[in-house]
Amino acid sequence: MREVARQTVITTEDFYKPRLGSHMSAYDFDFFVIGGGSGGVRAARLAAQRGVRVALAEAQGVAGLGGTCVNVGCIPKKLYSYAAHYAQAAVEARGYGWQSETPTLDWGLLKARRAQEIARLNDIYDQLLRGAGVTVLHGRAQLLDAHTVRLALLNADGSTHHQTLTAERFLIATGGTPNVPDFHGREFVITSNELFDLDPFPARLLIVGGGYIACEFASIFQGLGSQVTQMYRGVQVLRGFDEEVRHFTAQEMRKHGVDLRLNADVRRITREADGLHVLLEDGGHVVADAVLYATGRVPNVRGLGLEAAGVAQSGEGAIVVDASYRTNVPNVYAVGDVTARVQLTPAALGESMQLVDHLFGPVAGKLPRQMDYALIPTAVFTHPNVGTVGLTEVQARQQFSDVLVFRSEFRALRHTLSGSTERTLMKLVVDAGTDRVVGLHMVGSDAGEIVQGFAVAMRAGATKSVFDGTLGIHPTVAEEFVTMREPVR
Ligand code: FAD
Ligand code: NDP
Repeated sequence: MREVARQTVITTEDFYKPRLGSHMSAYDFDFFVIGGGSGGVRAARLAAQRGVRVALAEAQGVAGLGGTCVNVGCIPKKLYSYAAHYAQAAVEARGYGWQSETPTLDWGLLKARRAQEIARLNDIYDQLLRGAGVTVLHGRAQLLDAHTVRLALLNADGSTHHQTLTAERFLIATGGTPNVPDFHGREFVITSNELFDLDPFPARLLIVGGGYIACEFASIFQGLGSQVTQMYRGVQVLRGFDEEVRHFTAQEMRKHGVDLRLNADVRRITREADGLHVLLEDGGHVVADAVLYATGRVPNVRGLGLEAAGVAQSGEGAIVVDASYRTNVPNVYAVGDVTARVQLTPAALGESMQLVDHLFGPVAGKLPRQMDYALIPTAVFTHPNVGTVGLTEVQARQQFSDVLVFRSEFRALRHTLSGSTERTLMKLVVDAGTDRVVGLHMVGSDAGEIVQGFAVAMRAGATKSVFDGTLGIHPTVAEEFVTMREPVR
């Protein structure tokens, strides 16, 4: 276990460190952040840079800094996605004349290298916070009332001691946690939290769910060498994405070898000598070495003391906030996954930046930042990736009376020699009334990288004519977005 308790005792000196712009306050801190993930770290750092006396509590100590994204989310997931791509690249290289044996994966080495990189990032977060003047507290926080927090601070030997502190304002940024439904055999399944360190490598992996996590890990583990069966209860994976994108992605995932089963669900799981026996609702049967449930995430609010502080929650437990991220308790704020709005790291960061500008003032010479939920670009790191920004075709038709759809599907130049049958889909949805591009979708290699730039154009209000007048970069896949001339619908 890595060091979790570098600083567990707070001295009076820490409390009252003189800071630029700080004022005498009846509270120990001006701003107390609960949760050291994407949202919490950003808010704490920016607030401290403005001279505010800030503390941040992270339940898992240094090893938890960076939160879900750094420890068990975006970053390790993307590293494993890269790892999986090398296996595919080695096979495809033969089409280009490279003669080589198929490489084999040292799973233990990959896990160790990933853990090393994550530990490096944890330390960087720790240094960034301390460098900005944030008092970093290693322990779980529980609100006792709207101005008081009780901390179970971690000692180096794993035990805890308690400390009570007060703050003028609180920010709750405690994120979310995987949600697994109740059923017979639930104790045998794992969530994305456990997947990264699974031992041994699962030769047969069953994944339940059809959202981001289920689809990404289906692709990644299939690429790493598992035989993946993915089971989704609905008619098509990635609900909420453009219909064509959903079907195209499912088809490409299947081509990569994922055994994707739709309208399928688990009835019960038992452990037998040869693996986990999964009985399906339709009477079917699958045997797997591991079963991953990726069935959504719920706000992390257990033991947080929300009732004691009087903070209102929605039916699902999410903290309810207004447009300024203020809860019903005037000095308590919340951002990120715990508010269950958009569960993406850049959203948690954007919300924190707006909040800090709003509470403590923007950077000199800049306008206060405003989070915009209208055009959030997003990628699903399946193989191939999905990248998308703006409206789906169906949403656009609901909003505009005259919609034009431009669509291109092709085999990328790279795959003319690679032997891969992977295809690419690119799609533009245009409001004919204004000529504005209101939706942009892609399934293909590096779609996340490509769509990021187009998201800027769309925020700037780019019309289809602007796209048409933009020269392509030849030969690239991305140039297709500026060369689609005739609408298909
Ligand atoms: P978190 O990052 O979850 O941080 C919350 C922190 O609060 C945690 O460190 C927790 O230990 C701490 N905490 C909780 N309770 C307490 C307490 N009582 N006291 C003290 N500390 C506490 N998003 C993307 O944009 N791109 C991706 O590619 C992506 N991939 C993902 C892959 C996976 C497998 C998962 C699970 C998520 C992924 N996400 C991705 C989502 C992203 O990780 C989250 O949206 C983001 O981390 C939310 O940030 P947050 O600050 O709200 O919470
Ligand atoms: P999602 O909400 O994306 O998907 C959950 C999936 O589980 C859906 O297919 C849902 O089906 C299904 N499901 C829910 N309950 C049950 C049940 N009881 N039985 C069977 N299936 C069920 O959540 P994830 O867990 O995949 O990810 C959480 C969030 O994290 C994402 O929404 C995303 O915001 C973020 N994330 C972002 C990533 C990225 O940016 N690349 C990567 C990973 C996560 P149905 O559709 O029918 O409701």
